[in-house]
Amino acid sequence: MTSTRPEPPRYPEDIEHLDGAARGELRIPVCHCCGEQFWPPGPVCPRDFTADVGWVTDPGTGRVNSWVRFHKRYFTGDDVPYTVVQVRLDSGPNLTTTWTGPTDPVIDEPVVVSFRQIGASVTLPEFGPGVPS
Ligand SMILES: [Zn+2]
Repeated sequence: MTSTRPEPPRYPEDIEHLDGAARGELRIPVCHCCGEQFWPPGPVCPRDFTADVGWVTDPGTGRVNSWVRFHKRYFTGDDVPYTVVQVRLDSGPNLTTTWTGPTDPVIDEPVVVSFRQIGASVTLPEFGPGVPS
């Protein structure tokens, strides 16, 4: 059954992240003044509020910070249950993504990014167990 889930919108502040994911790169905002990597994307650094921000390619490694399993089907055709994980990247920011592991996440478990195309034109990062190669 085809999912009725709408594709994520391409908001201007997310385009660098989404285009990076389509290339298999985890693009994360960075402050050019203090070096802080942050999430979600925004026009200023959340630490020092400077507008001198850009993007870096993150290695995509981190650890499980928290997770939850969804049992409710919000869109026709979606597979349930599914697991959503909050990952603390080794570079600092927290990302909330889909979990790809075969078993439940474990708090503080090492994880690595992978990418999955959602619909016709959006690719998103997701995380599962692993260590950098
Ligand atoms: Zn800063």
